[in-house]
Amino acid sequence: MDQWTKAKSLITKLKESGFDAYIVGGAVRDFLLQRSIADLDIVTTAKPHDISNLFTKTFQTNTVHQTILVRYEGLLFELTTIRGSSIEEDLKKRDLTINSLAMNEKGLIIDVVNGKHDIAMKQLASVDPFERMLEDPLRMLRVCRFISELGFQVETNLFDTIQTNHPKLKGVAVERVGKEWMKLLKGDYYKQALSFLKQTNVYLSIPGLSLDLQTIDQLETVNSLSEDSDIVCWTAFCICHHTDVLSHLALSNELIRAIHTRLHYFNQRKEQKWNKEDLYYASLDVAKDVETIRQRFNLSYCTEDVLSSYWMSLPIHKRSELAINGRDLLSRTNKKQGPWLKKALDYAEKMVVTGQCPNETNLLFEALVEVELC
Ligand code: ATP
Ligand code: MG
Repeated sequence: MDQWTKAKSLITKLKESGFDAYIVGGAVRDFLLQRSIADLDIVTTAKPHDISNLFTKTFQTNTVHQTILVRYEGLLFELTTIRGSSIEEDLKKRDLTINSLAMNEKGLIIDVVNGKHDIAMKQLASVDPFERMLEDPLRMLRVCRFISELGFQVETNLFDTIQTNHPKLKGVAVERVGKEWMKLLKGDYYKQALSFLKQTNVYLSIPGLSLDLQTIDQLETVNSLSEDSDIVCWTAFCICHHTDVLSHLALSNELIRAIHTRLHYFNQRKEQKWNKEDLYYASLDVAKDVETIRQRFNLSYCTEDVLSSYWMSLPIHKRSELAINGRDLLSRTNKKQGPWLKKALDYAEKMVVTGQCPNETNLLFEALVEVELC
């Protein structure tokens, strides 16, 4: 069963329990555009507690919009309770006409705001742009994101509304910005989106990103990031930025660390080839990301094959492969545990990685004695 069949079966299950339900949002839009879909959003007349009772595996994700994540037939679906008294009313409250389409379990499409027409015209429009955009100013950034993903033109009234009201975007929580910004950077038409950001001045109002014209000019020179991970995209973004934005973006500590590591090795790697020491301490994954980023910036880069074989040629790949460990050192020296132990192992590791000593226990021990590290 594919995603769609499973979604329709889920809807049928809701219907059998007396609730109404439809596939909505990006999935229906992308179906009409013959694009592959990421997630499937479903709206239903069932309330969150009804949904929890009907399905065994559910997780509350968003209390404001009453969204529940449901695992059904091995897939995750986002179920949201219909806003208003009918599907028609719910659809009219969505951000853009192209996102205001619904599909029932038979595949029939409900289109109350001419979304299909706008898809055919390749345009982004809102029925009542002022009201729609100000109700949730993040929608103005979503418009930029959809330009980037779809390459559509922005209808005049919507364009004017955004040009006039973008400062309202400043009030949006930074946490909501990152996801849209990533999608924008990965879009096939991101240069079109960047030029919209400049034309409307929206770039001045996006929380956390501290965009200026210089940064956008830099971003315009980057090759497509459409195939890349969020880590690679954020790193590329930081490289284009002349200030340190990372701490203002409300990203997870883990993500921030990963970006910092890549930035470090990106700045470090000035030579044509990685040196063994940097490659070892960076790890293969980080090195691959750095090479991907170099490629995006039109810099010379190592292919994955070259990098992997270089990695394979390293004498060791992780600390545990070192022929000497803490226990060896303690038993050979009769010394007590202490900070000297870490220093000695760090030194031994470096000697092996740089090829200054073979990875052999006795030789490593002798080398450590020689420099009085044990
Ligand atoms: P994607 O293909 O990236 O999932 P999407 O259009 O489905 O894009 P989602 O963020 O998954 O976007 O949201 C699902 C649907 O919910 C949207 O199509 C839209 O109709 C509605 N929606 C989401 N966020 C907003 C918002 N801030 N304002 C209005 N409607 C929204
Ligand atoms: Mg979606």
